[in-house]
Amino acid sequence: MKRFEGKAVVVTGAASGIGAACVRRLWDEGACVALADQDQGGVDKLVTLLGGDARLYGGNLDVSDAGQVEEFVATAQKKFGSLHGLINCAGIKGVGNVLDCESENWKKVMSVNLDGTFLMCQAFARAVQHDKTSRAIVNISSGAGIMGVPNRLPYVASKFAVSGITRTMGAELGPYGIRVNAIAPGMIRTPFTAYMFDDPEKARRIRAAHAIGREGQPEEIAAVAAFLLTDDASFMTGAIVSVDGGQTACIPSV
Ligand code: NAP
Repeated sequence: MKRFEGKAVVVTGAASGIGAACVRRLWDEGACVALADQDQGGVDKLVTLLGGDARLYGGNLDVSDAGQVEEFVATAQKKFGSLHGLINCAGIKGVGNVLDCESENWKKVMSVNLDGTFLMCQAFARAVQHDKTSRAIVNISSGAGIMGVPNRLPYVASKFAVSGITRTMGAELGPYGIRVNAIAPGMIRTPFTAYMFDDPEKARRIRAAHAIGREGQPEEIAAVAAFLLTDDASFMTGAIVSVDGGQTACIPSV
C-alpha cells in the first residue's frame, strides 16, 4: 500500500523547483495531486511528463488572488471528492534593505509569500474543516524565516510571517484535526537560486555555509513535506522544521 493512495493533496508553486518535486513525490506514492501555479505552461508540462492521468489536476492560479484561490480549492475538492493535504510552495524573491526598499516591492513580496500562504490555508481549512479524515498543511518558509538576511528585507519579513502564522494556525486548527507545520529550507538548487551558482566563489561560500558542505536538492524538501502530511507526523503541529544541512544550526566561526 502506497502512503498516499486515496488521498488528494493541493500543491502551489507546482510548476517548478520544490513544488514540482513535491508533486512528483506525492504522485509516486499514490496521491491525487492538484497542481497550482501562475505558470500554466509549466504545470501542463509536468502533468504531461507524469502521464496526464486522472490522479492529476493542473490549473492556473495566482495565490495572491482570493477569488482564484477559493475557486481552485473548490474545484480540486469537487474533482477528488475530499482533500487530505496542502503544500504551499509558491513564492518569489524579495530584494531590498531598510533604506532603499520601495513600498510597491514590499507589497508585492508580501502579497505572494504571505497573503498567498494565508489565503490558501484559509480556503483549504474552510473546505475541509468538517471532514473526519486526517488533514495537514505544510508551508514552505525559509532559513530567512528564522534568521535575518541583509538586503532581503521584504523576503525575510514575509518568511518570518509565514513561520508565525504556521504556529498560530497550528493552534487554531488543532481542534479541527488539521495539523499545520512549516519547513525552513536551506539553500536548495532550483530555478529560484540557479543564478547564485553561476559565480564559483559565491557557490563555494554557499556550500561552506551549510554544515554538511553542500546545497540541498528539491527532493530533500519534498521527502520531509510528504512525511509531515502522513500520520507518522500525527503529533506534530505548529512546528517550523529546519531542513537546511545545518545552515542555521550554529554561528559560523571566524
Ligand atoms: P521556484 O523554482 O521559483 O518555484 C516557485 C514557483 O512558484 C514558480 O513556478 C513560480 O512561478 C510560482 N509562483 C510565483 N508567484 C506565484 C503566484 N503569485 N501564484 C502562483 N504561483 C506563483 O522556487 P523554489 O526554489 O522551488 O521555491 C519554492 C518555495 O521555497 C518558495 O516559497 C521559496 O521562498 C522557498 N524557499 C526556497 C529556497 C531555495 O533555496 N530554493 C530556500 C528557502 C525557501 P514563476 O516561475 O512564474 O515565478
